[in-house]
Formats: sequence, C-alpha cells, structure tokens
Amino acid sequence: MLEVRDLSVKYGNFTALHSINLTVQPGEIVVLLGANGAGKSTLFRTLSGLQRPSGGAATWQGTPLTGGKPEFNVSHGVSQCPEGRLLFPELSVEKNLRLGAYVHRRDAAGNERELEKVYELFPAMVDKRHAPAGSLSGGQQQMVAIGRALMARPSLLLLDEPSLGLAPLVVEQVLAAAQQINAQGVSVLLAEQNAYAALSIAHRGYVLESGQVTLQGTAQELMNDDRVRSAYLGV
Ligand code: ATP
Repeated sequence: MLEVRDLSVKYGNFTALHSINLTVQPGEIVVLLGANGAGKSTLFRTLSGLQRPSGGAATWQGTPLTGGKPEFNVSHGVSQCPEGRLLFPELSVEKNLRLGAYVHRRDAAGNERELEKVYELFPAMVDKRHAPAGSLSGGQQQMVAIGRALMARPSLLLLDEPSLGLAPLVVEQVLAAAQQINAQGVSVLLAEQNAYAALSIAHRGYVLESGQVTLQGTAQELMNDDRVRSAYLGV
C-alpha cells in the first residue's frame, strides 16, 4: 500500500504540508479533494521524488519514495500524470507516449505491448499517433498525458487534476478511463476539483485544506458530509 506518515513539506519558511497521514490500498481509487493551494500538487511532487519532505515518510509497497530520485520512484511503480499535462506539443502523440517508457528503455518489445494497451484504452489516439500533441483537443491531450504515465507500467498512478479545463462530457470520459485503468489492477490517487465526478468513481477520499487532512472517509461518507457538500459539491 501507499503509506504517507506524518509527511511535512516546506518551501522556505512556508509549510505547504503539515504532518499529513494517508493510505492507498492496492486496488483502490482514492480521491484527494481540496481547493487551489491546498497542497495536492505538493503531495504528488513529493511522492514522485521531485520534492524532498522536511519530515515524515512515504512508502509504496514498503519502498521509500522520499529519497529525491524520481527515476527510482517510477521504476518502483509510482508514475505521475502531472497537472497541466506537460506534453511536448511539437512532438507526435506517439513520441510523447514513448517518453513515458524511459525507465524501461531497454525493453523495446515490452514497450510495444504497452503502447498497444494505451491505444486499446484510448482508441481515438490511433488515428492521431503521428499528429503533434499540441494539435489535439484538451481532452485528447489529457488522454495522451495519462497514456504517457501508463507507459511507465505503474502499480500506483498519481493523477493530478486530470479534468482541469475540460467540458463535463470529457471529464466523464477521463474519469471513466481512470476507472478502467484501476480495473486493470492499478491503484489510483486522484486529485480533483470536480468533486462529485471524482467521488462517483472513488472508493475513499481525503479532504486537504491548507496543507492538512481535515476529513476522510469512504466516497459515500464524503458525498453525504455536509462540509463536503457545501464546500465541494455546491449543495
Ligand atoms: P493547485 O491545484 O492550484 O495546484 P494545490 O492544492 O496543488 O493547488 P500546491 O501547488 O501544492 O497546491 O501548493 C500548496 C501551497 O504551496 C500554495 O500555497 C502554493 O502557493 C505553495 N507553493 C507551491 N509551490 C511552491 C514553491 N515552489 N515555492 C513556494 N511556495 C510554493
């Protein structure tokens, strides 16, 4: 499982995460709700080894993730699809996807198989494989970003705001893809502002406010919680 224990992250004197605790069990989709600036991306960057914590620990299947070596984390099964997609717009869809396989660069045959799996998950990508990624719609670019993360063959996928800026129908498609990936055995930690849609596919969730976990529960419990309903579900 993913075990985050008393994890703190500072930027200079500013504490972005205050000793947070959370878990993701194998096979789970866990949603992280929180407003802009709550610390979701900071947590993801820390779990990816891009940001060193100032205290606490994070492990996936017992392997420490806080050593500050992103390639180590990816090769131990943790792959991030970052907020804002961060594709290489001039490169083709397929080249963007292949970049995700960097840690498996010596396994050409395996990477071809993974590429086919990504195209099975996102059939609309097949016709676009040679198109520059930047020429695709926002939703399609999000699929490419998720596909690129999958090329690393994760057992834990960190999905940071995948529905940002997308139309409601496209949000549903992206979250349905997350559910399909999970059904194939990948655990998912999902940061989302789109709380209702995210809770609809999640098993459990946490609410992060100003760098602290203020609420946690099953997706159903969170959906029924008055604080969640007023702050994140608009009811
Ligand atoms: P968003 O969805 O807007 O990215 P978030 O929940 O992911 O929000 P973070 O990006 O993790 O939030 O930011 C948490 C806090 O840390 C914010 O107050 C932000 O201003 C601050 N912060 C983030 N990165 C840095 C940095 N490199 N230096 C200083 N402060 C930072």
